[in-house]
Amino acid sequence: MAWPTYKEEGKTSGRLVEPGLDLRRTTLNELRRRPVTELPGIGPRIEASLKELGIDSLADMISHYPSRHEDLSNVKKISDLRVGERATVVGRVVSTRGVGRPVRGRTPGFAVQLYDGTGYIPATVWGRGWLLNQLVEGVMVLVSGEVQRRYGIQIAAKSIEVVEDPATMDENAHAGRFVPIYPVNKGMQARRMRTLIHRALDAVGRVLDPLPSELLVRHGLPNLYDAMCEVHFPTDRAGLRQAMRRLIFHELFLMQAGLAARKAAMELTETGRSHSGDGSLLNPYLKKLPFGLTGAQERVVEELLADLRSEKPMRRLVQGDVGSGKTVVAVAALLSVVEGGGQGAMMAPTEVLAEQHYLSVSSSLSELPVNVVLLTGSQNAAERRAALESVAGGEAQIVIGTHALIQKGVEFNDLSLVVIDEQHRFGVGQRMIFKEKGATPDTLVMTATPIPRTLSLTLYGDLEVSIIDELPPGRKPVETRMVGLAEREEAYEAVRVELETGRQAYVICPLVEESEALEDVRAAEELYEELAEEIFPERNVGILHGRMKAAEKREVMARFRDGDIEVLVATVVVEVGVDVPNASAIIIEGAERFGLSQLHQLRGRVCRGLHPPKCFLVGEPKTDDSRSRLEALCEHQDGFKLSEVDLSIRGEGTLFGSRQSGMPDLKVAKLLRDIEILVETRKEAFELVAADPKLKRPEHRPLRREIEELLGADVEWLFRE
Ligand code: ADP
Ligand code: MG
Repeated sequence: MAWPTYKEEGKTSGRLVEPGLDLRRTTLNELRRRPVTELPGIGPRIEASLKELGIDSLADMISHYPSRHEDLSNVKKISDLRVGERATVVGRVVSTRGVGRPVRGRTPGFAVQLYDGTGYIPATVWGRGWLLNQLVEGVMVLVSGEVQRRYGIQIAAKSIEVVEDPATMDENAHAGRFVPIYPVNKGMQARRMRTLIHRALDAVGRVLDPLPSELLVRHGLPNLYDAMCEVHFPTDRAGLRQAMRRLIFHELFLMQAGLAARKAAMELTETGRSHSGDGSLLNPYLKKLPFGLTGAQERVVEELLADLRSEKPMRRLVQGDVGSGKTVVAVAALLSVVEGGGQGAMMAPTEVLAEQHYLSVSSSLSELPVNVVLLTGSQNAAERRAALESVAGGEAQIVIGTHALIQKGVEFNDLSLVVIDEQHRFGVGQRMIFKEKGATPDTLVMTATPIPRTLSLTLYGDLEVSIIDELPPGRKPVETRMVGLAEREEAYEAVRVELETGRQAYVICPLVEESEALEDVRAAEELYEELAEEIFPERNVGILHGRMKAAEKREVMARFRDGDIEVLVATVVVEVGVDVPNASAIIIEGAERFGLSQLHQLRGRVCRGLHPPKCFLVGEPKTDDSRSRLEALCEHQDGFKLSEVDLSIRGEGTLFGSRQSGMPDLKVAKLLRDIEILVETRKEAFELVAADPKLKRPEHRPLRREIEELLGADVEWLFRE
């Protein structure tokens, strides 16, 4: 098939127009600009309901995909139902009536009598009263739930949905057995939704497929418009499966192509330098460490050194579970750059962590001729001026700091390598800011946030990934227990035992608000007093929270590190990175309020030593989800495993559109389920972009348009000449 050629029409709109425009052929982009009100039968009320569902344009309308399909051949006949089983039936509404004691004239539930040709059965539904005005006589509904004997047989409906009558769904002889189930709302009936989608598909005509036809042929995928039609009006199982596959492929391919384009654009605009050291610092540093590197650390260091030697700017993510020893790896890279005469910077998300890095790095380098400088927001004017001067003058060879590193007024002399620790705490944007300071430095981002492989391919798709998949030898799993509020004393008792053998403990305060609000601080102080005066009166108890002055925090951390403070009451300021190997127990109060990855991070504070560590999760989970989170933590030690659990509990919807990803939500693809397609699309997308980095070829222009649409204004520079 020959592709029509496109030309840009006018600079301002940049709209693609097909010469000799076929009226029955349109692009998704055009459809995004055509309001849904173009369709007949959409008044203000329906328009409002559609808007509520996120449907504004014709493009939204035709891509309002069913949330699932129900295979009617799996449906049970009413006459075959057995008490106690869970079943799905489809029947027509005969009548409805309220059930339960009415409150203010409304009953809390209703029963709908169904008939399917083999028998009658009532289905009871609690809540969802707004459905009643859609459940008029003769409407077809799909109900699933348990069959119960209660005043005769009934179905306790877990779900009830109005479906289009399959017999009228398809004018063709072979009526579809698959009924699409749409996300609908109060003002929008399923039947109307289907009608509108049908009209929209009809009105728009064939939509130009933004994916190159050659790619589709190779993967045996139908074109976009056909797939859309099939998903809305399925013909058979095979057709539906193919169509779904196509839509998932579409979504993931666009995302990967976007990432590939972003990466290509950066590579085209950047010139890097080769940084090669002679080992004069690195070798003595490694030799002086009290341990040998793990195999994984060694491998990752090799990967980093190779990147540094290359002229291409490095862009690498090092992923390693909590406690896997990422710091050493970063220091190795920094030293190699310093050997070559360059300057390195390491940015940490909190002052506590920046200080810790500064102290540990400068002490491990104390016998080497390397000048390490700290730069944080809390330094006084004189300290800051001195730090800035040595950074600008180049005397500072390694600069460690917080966000302060990327603020105005910070000039580097010859910034060659930037390490961003705990990258998940920063946004994507922060990687860019460094880039704008002079020549493109090599970038190394590190994260302990256990990101499943699927996610790292999407969130960090423009980065090379190294994984430290091995913990230092001798690490013991953290014995993790859930403790009810009433059994708190048991946790304290266990901690007492640890303290008696000279080890230390953390007690983490419950999280009141995300930011350390005053309430958090007050709660922390109360807990501190209770612990210091009543629970551990014979021990030194310290407190650390985000509202303390930097000098105070520094002092508390120093005393904790030295073992002077034996129990540290802290807010989440210690969540990431803090490394005190002698601490062997942690009590997390209000554990149910924390997210799973946060809990894993907190627990990671005590997996660093050689003593078998203990973690107590204090709290009363109130929801199934929070209970599953805590149970998962008791069961698993591995952060990657935990993040998969987390993903399956939280759902994937929440992951995108976040500041971290800079990616829009996925509508049809599910990363865990669709990993195979993700890998396939990633390979294809990166190959395509490698061959045509700016997507200039005529057959790639529609794709380019879609990517621009997908990634939005913040990556407008992508295809700039
Ligand atoms: P993270 O990956 O969480 O940042 P760190 O770099 O803070 O981990 O290292 C955790 C602890 O493990 C530190 O006390 C560090 O000194 C120690 N460590 C790092 N690498 C090794 C190793 N190969 N063998 C033994 N201990 C190690
Ligand atoms: Mg760390």
